This record gives sequence, structure tokens and C-alpha cells, in this order.
Amino acid sequence: MIVLNSFIHLFKTPGGHYFYDVNKNVILSLSEEQYKILEYYRKSDETDKCTSEFNAQAIESIKHLRDLGFLSEKRPKEMYHPLNDTILSHLNNKVSKITLQITKQCNLRCKYCIYSGDYENRVHSNEKMTLDTARKGIDFYIEHSKDNEKALLAFYGGEPLLEFEFIKNCVEYFEEKAEGKNIYFSLTTNATLLNEEIVEYFQKHSVHLLISLDGSSEIHNRNRVYRDDKGTFEKVLENLEMIKTKFPDFLSKNIAFNAVLDPQNEFSCVNNFFTDFELAKEASVMASQISNLYRKDTVKASKEYISEIEYEIFKIFLSELGYLDEKYTSKLLSKEYVERKVRYSRLQMRDELPDRIHHGGPCVAGVQRLFVDVDGNFYPCERVSESSPQMKIGNINDGFDVNKIKTLLNIGKLSENKCVDCWALMFCDLCAAAADDIDGLSTEKKVSKCSGVIDTADSMFKDICTLREFGAELGKEIYALDMIE
Ligand code: SF4
Ligand code: SF4
Repeated sequence: MIVLNSFIHLFKTPGGHYFYDVNKNVILSLSEEQYKILEYYRKSDETDKCTSEFNAQAIESIKHLRDLGFLSEKRPKEMYHPLNDTILSHLNNKVSKITLQITKQCNLRCKYCIYSGDYENRVHSNEKMTLDTARKGIDFYIEHSKDNEKALLAFYGGEPLLEFEFIKNCVEYFEEKAEGKNIYFSLTTNATLLNEEIVEYFQKHSVHLLISLDGSSEIHNRNRVYRDDKGTFEKVLENLEMIKTKFPDFLSKNIAFNAVLDPQNEFSCVNNFFTDFELAKEASVMASQISNLYRKDTVKASKEYISEIEYEIFKIFLSELGYLDEKYTSKLLSKEYVERKVRYSRLQMRDELPDRIHHGGPCVAGVQRLFVDVDGNFYPCERVSESSPQMKIGNINDGFDVNKIKTLLNIGKLSENKCVDCWALMFCDLCAAAADDIDGLSTEKKVSKCSGVIDTADSMFKDICTLREFGAELGKEIYALDMIE
């Protein structure tokens, strides 16, 4: 008899048949006959009816596989985060990074901004952080990051450069308090307010800038505009030219670019811009999508737009396999290959699933990042809404709210019945933000995103296996894809 309810995911590539064994956490390759057997017995509720239809040797190999511990039916019993019981020690000693929201004001009115009014309960305002709040935040961070060699302070807005004197004050206070550690500063900016004095200061204090630049003048100016709707590209370019002339080292070492991809634009135009753009030649360039988190309407991409991106990812694969020179690949999407390698590295053979496990996705709120808003309230990151009480995980006066942090960490509890039977649980990337309904955490909202997660995991598996079929070296741990052949 062959197991009917194995916890596995079957999938095919143009060159092979595979299954992912959730208990063992590995992908194994199958012959077409073996694949059909597993597929048949997953659908049928009559165990031995059709055994005569299949080749006896293939049936035996599947039985052998089961004897080796594969194809187990075991499901976890509950969603329970492995760090739940040691969270206090992490919160007390290992907080990695603090981000200060120094102002909610901005000199621009970008069309897709999270404060543009298109997002639930978030608008620009004149609220800004006081120096006392910033210092208390920094003191709290230093006190709660004793185990770390690095000390990281990030500035976030609105537009942080509206408050340059404030930034200087924080930088110098942080340098004093974190003396002896490897100090790292970063700042996300629209780059319109940069001038020589600011850059000189940032160079001296090793501040790293993440500059928002969406592409050519036409593309950038479509969304990134001043209050009077005038585009900002020309000003950003002028400032970058100034940096190139006066602070060439700063341009190559301290600046990275982020392009927000608007599916209304052709991806190839954005891509070509960054391939040719002299001022970003040596810089790291990344892309992000317009955020749909808390958005009142969803930004959807057309099929043509998705195909354009998939084609570029395909070219990156060809380049990794040695069939295409890297210079023809997209700088903006270079992390796509790395992401697949990271997923591959999560395939680590184990005996079986533990009874208690948690799906992938949630950060350890407050530990990986600590976002402090203008009023001194704590949040897990800058992406979550400051209007959501359930996302507020403490404040500079009272410290961490450990119970709330545990709720966010164990967000799998919300959808436990579904998660314990989900083959993609190790590859899930849904955190509490995906369930945040402003008024509370919503199971419905969270599970509405599951099909997207499962489709992505399936297509990543197919990419990984196709790449391996063509000889890609994805990591040192190569599991026995052919062990049952
Ligand atoms: S988006 Fe979610 S997982 Fe990521 S840092 Fe924010 S809260 Fe944590
Ligand atoms: S995709 Fe949905 S069901 Fe699957 S682990 Fe994630 S939250 Fe749970």
C-alpha cells in the first residue's frame, strides 16, 4: 500500500519531474512513471486498485522511498515560533538597528507615497521628532544591543533632510554613545535637498544614502514631483553631478539607488536607463514595487509588464549558466538569482517536521529592526502603519510590549488550521503586516494572500530545478535529487 496523504508537493519542469517532501525538507527527482504513481495515489482514495496499471519496479521504488522515511503524512500540530521562549534575551541584548522617523513632512508629493492619501490612515503632517525623543530612542537602542559589535542608526521621514541640524545632533550623540562599536549610518532621501555642506558632513561621518530615483526624466517625473506637480529629476541629477565633481568617493562608496517600479511604465525603459546611467555605474541599484500594503486600491501589473520582467530574470539565469555576458542583464533585478539561492539554501534535510513549527515570514519584531516614530512609539519596521495599535510594540518610556511582540512573532496562529497543512510553510513570507487591518489582525486578510505565496514558492522550485538541470551551482549542499533513480 502506498501512502495517500503524504505531505508533499509534486511539480514538473520542462526537463524533469519532482516532489518536495515537507517533512524531510528536500526536493527529490522522479521518473515520469514514479511521478504518475504519486499523483494517482494523491487523488485516489482506493489504495491498491490501480497498482497493475503501473510498472512494478516503479511501485517498489516508491515503497522503498517510504521505507526510508520519505512521503510521511505527518503534519505539525501547531504554529509556535522557535524564538518565542527566548525572545526576552533577544529584545534585551540583540536589537540590530534603530530607525528614527524624524519628520512626517516632505518637500515632495510623490504620487505613490505611503503618505499620499492612497493608503489607509497615513497622510503627511508637520509632526516631527524632538531631540529628547531621539536621544531616549538612541539610549534605549544602545542599552538593548549590548551583544552586537555593530551599531546601526537609520534616518527616515517624510524627507529627513528637512531636518539636517537635527540629523547632525543625532549622529554626534550616537557616535558618543556607541563608541567602540562599528558604527553605520543610513538615510533614505529624495536627494533634492542635498548640497555641499550636507554631503561634506555625510562623507566625514560615513553616512550612507539610499536615493530614490525611478528612471529617466520622463519616468521619474511622472510620480516624483514637488507640491506644485513639477518633476524632480533635474534637481536630483544636478545634485548627483555636484557630488560626482566634488565628492567622487562618496558617490561610488556611500550612495545606493532604489527605483520604485510603476507598472504603468515599460520595465525595459527603466532598465535601460540604469544600464546607461553614468552616475549609477558603480553604485548598487535596487528596485521595489509600489507598495500594496495598506493601499486603498491595489496596483496591478499587466501581463506584458510581468513578461518583460520574467524575460529579464531569464537572461540573468542564462548569464549565471555562462550563456550570456553579465553586461546584458538587468542591474535592477540582480537580487532575483540571489533570492533563489537563498531559497535553495533553506532546503536542509531533517528527519521530520517537529510538532511545533512556525511558517516563514515574520521578523523578530523589535530585534531585526526597531522603528521609532516621531512620538517615540516603537514599531517592527517602517513599512507597517503607525495607525495600527496592534503594530505598536512599545515606546521609549515604557520599553517593549513583550506580549504584543509575541503575538506578531506567532502570527501563524491566525491561520493555524490552514498553515499546518500548507506545503509552502517553510517558504511563506507573510508577516503580521499582511494581516493588519488597522483595526486589528485579520485572518481573512492574511489568508487572501496565501495563493500568491504558494504560487511563488512553486515557481521558485521550478526555477531552482531547471537551473540545476542546466548545471547551475546553487550552493554547497546538493541534496540527492536522484537518490531514488
Ligand atoms: S515587513 Fe513584516 S517581517 Fe518585514 S520587517 Fe516589517 S513587520 Fe517585520
Ligand atoms: S501561505 Fe498561507 S497557509 Fe501557507 S504557511 Fe503561509 S500563511 Fe500559512
